[in-house]
Amino acid sequence: MSGSGDSGAPARAREPRQRYVLDDRGFDEVPKKYRKFYRRWSGADDELAPNEVLCPICKVVIRSTRELRPGDRVYCMACMARLEVVAGEGGRLEADVIY
Ligand SMILES: [Zn+2]
Repeated sequence: MSGSGDSGAPARAREPRQRYVLDDRGFDEVPKKYRKFYRRWSGADDELAPNEVLCPICKVVIRSTRELRPGDRVYCMACMARLEVVAGEGGRLEADVIY
């Protein structure tokens, strides 16, 4: 039970994270191989799972195979933005653009 593969993760983030199995939601703006990591956002009523975060630029939902936490870096392949996960209002996860 060692070697999670995380490099440089802060000590506080070492609790085990919940894992998720992703399914293809038909997001066709990226190569087929990567489709399961994205889905379209269906608006304010669309509740994001703990492994999902919304790209603030193109409003695509980025999905991870593990629970996301503030400080995580994610990549939006749809608009090629690098994002950092931050805690938003009400504990919701949001993403800040790094560049
Ligand atoms: Zn994007």
